[in-house]
Amino acid sequence: MAEFTPQPSCADDVDHNNLTVEQARQRIHDLLSPISSWQKVSLRQALGQVLHQSVVSPRQVPPYNNSAMDGYALRSADIKNTPFSLNNVGVAFAGKPYQGHVEAGQCIRIMTGAKIPDGCDTVVMQEQVESDNQTITIHTEVKAGQNVRLAGEDIDCGDTVLPAGRRLTPADLGLLASLGIAEVVTYRPLRVAFFSTGDELCGLGEHLGDGQIYDSNRYTLYGMLSELNIDVIDMGVIPDNRAALKIALEQAAADADVILSSGGVSVGDADYVKDMLAELGQVNFWKIAMRPGRPLAFGQIGEAMFFGLPGNPVSVMVTFYQFVQPALKRLAGESDTLPIIIEVPCDNAIKKRAGRFEFQRGILFRNNEGQLRVSTTGAQGSGILRSMSMANCFILLEENCDGLSAGSLVNVQPFAGLV
Ligand code: AMP
Ligand code: MG
Repeated sequence: MAEFTPQPSCADDVDHNNLTVEQARQRIHDLLSPISSWQKVSLRQALGQVLHQSVVSPRQVPPYNNSAMDGYALRSADIKNTPFSLNNVGVAFAGKPYQGHVEAGQCIRIMTGAKIPDGCDTVVMQEQVESDNQTITIHTEVKAGQNVRLAGEDIDCGDTVLPAGRRLTPADLGLLASLGIAEVVTYRPLRVAFFSTGDELCGLGEHLGDGQIYDSNRYTLYGMLSELNIDVIDMGVIPDNRAALKIALEQAAADADVILSSGGVSVGDADYVKDMLAELGQVNFWKIAMRPGRPLAFGQIGEAMFFGLPGNPVSVMVTFYQFVQPALKRLAGESDTLPIIIEVPCDNAIKKRAGRFEFQRGILFRNNEGQLRVSTTGAQGSGILRSMSMANCFILLEENCDGLSAGSLVNVQPFAGLV
């Protein structure tokens, strides 16, 4: 990672030294590969973790031919033009199979999920049958094999049911349980150390002095990391001085797979941060053609990957969702790292200058006619964290877009409740 680009500046919007969002994302993706550690975990522990090994089914689902209906099981060889009658010789419940062999001219009463008895291959639903307990008469046309769920119909023995790289969902846990699988092999959860930088920052519970603000970035970072099932190491606020920063970075590099810092990467206070990173590792400072969140530091310190995020609270969240989240997913072994993007009409006009990709904060909602719409959250300053709190999606505005009229179609990337 030898490449260094000039320090970010806030010059004009159209700057050809800028990386595009896609270029930056691609470079990060290309430099990362999944961690090598894995572990065997029980099913409940595996929720939200990423499969290291594919899961191959050791059995068939369903395990035996069974009835899809409450009704009567019969032999297809006995099907005749309706009406026709059969002798009712027994009953099968789910979990209590009929033990005998059903012979020609016979049938049994059968419940949903019960095993189809030997000799039978077809089920007639009870509503289509007249019965006096001894004999049943069928009035509706019957097709051979109807209303039977065949063994292995859903999953066959040896089928790959879940591929490596899959982050396990509640449905996956149920699926694995249905196959009798109690343990799976997953990637070890990532360890991420993070800290805020800035002499103006004050921790919660501390007295807010003159010229100070509370540190909010560590809380948004904590929340976004928690959504990814990560082991977090919160290193607190690091003051703006070389020695403290050096200790923090060395400590973080020793403890974590990934280090995240916020603040101190823009013009002004960036210089010593940059020196320190150059001394301890290989870190690139990128200017990305985006708003908010233009400067981003990315590289390696020791064995750990490092992301230096901007300080502004909205920029932190935008750069996290656009670059850090997909990077963490990749490191964690997940194969599906692409965000969900949908196209919807925007209720309000949007002002924008061509030049940078903008991530405006949006609210995705259903209007009175039940149609999906988006609106912006209002003022879009990169320090207005309330805009993120109100939002449930980003409105994605391409570099060359120079504003939109109300009703235009826009791409949105939902973030609330989706990872
Ligand atoms: P910086 O990138 O360090 O110049 O910070 C840019 C802006 O973000 C400044 O107004 C900082 O006070 C603010 N800021 C930086 N870090 C934090 C933080 N952890 N919580 C809240 N605001 C922050
Ligand atoms: Mg600062």
